[in-house]
Amino acid sequence: MDEKDLEITIAHLYPKLLNLYGDMGNIIALQKRCQWRGINVIYKEININDNIDDNDIYFIGGGQDKQQEDVAAELYKHKDFLTAQRDKGSVFLGICGGYQLMGHYYQPFDKEKLQGISLLDAYTTAGKKRFIGNVTCKIDFLSLKTLVGFENHSGLTYLSGETKPLGIISTGNGNNGIDKTEGARYKNVFGTYLHGSLLPKNPHFADYLIELALEKKYGEKIKLSPLNDEIEMKTHNSLVGKAY
Ligand code: GLN
Repeated sequence: MDEKDLEITIAHLYPKLLNLYGDMGNIIALQKRCQWRGINVIYKEININDNIDDNDIYFIGGGQDKQQEDVAAELYKHKDFLTAQRDKGSVFLGICGGYQLMGHYYQPFDKEKLQGISLLDAYTTAGKKRFIGNVTCKIDFLSLKTLVGFENHSGLTYLSGETKPLGIISTGNGNNGIDKTEGARYKNVFGTYLHGSLLPKNPHFADYLIELALEKKYGEKIKLSPLNDEIEMKTHNSLVGKAY
């Protein structure tokens, strides 16, 4: 199919509350990487009390515990629908606080447990130490084997069952600073602690998410045409292995 005949819908979940450390940059990267190829993008901002409908990509950013609290109860109302969307192959990307709410629960340090929507077989409990700094993670599902980003969280996330790590930490802490895992994936649901924002400096991963979303929508694998990623890769490579 010609890229100019393609269209993709992106639902941004609760950006007025969960949009920490430039996470909006992930939406901009997805939009631009589609538009530069002539692919039409329909962007929907989903706020508290809004309905959520069928979309190709759902994005939820990070936030402090208080914002997570405000979002958790609202997000839970859509658990069944979003689970069905996951099982239909919609792509989800959750960053940090949003990632934590895609698991079973997030237990803050001194507050009530926040119910997650269990798109991932994972749970998070707040630790005493805050993990802050650059992260390099080794991945095995793309030809470029690294993801880079910035972490700032006290939550410790643990994975189970069919939910596998996004990658293995080579610099930084990742999910919990113990098992060397970073992020999570189940079906087309991706969670990660990598803020920064993630996708502008990991163009290979951005294109991978777009291709998965197009496959879900059009029922066939669609290889995106290449873009000139010189600047993006210069940034990526400057961060590989960088700690602080
Ligand atoms: N409040 C969560 C934590 O501290 C998530 C923070 C974030 O989204 N950066 O772990």
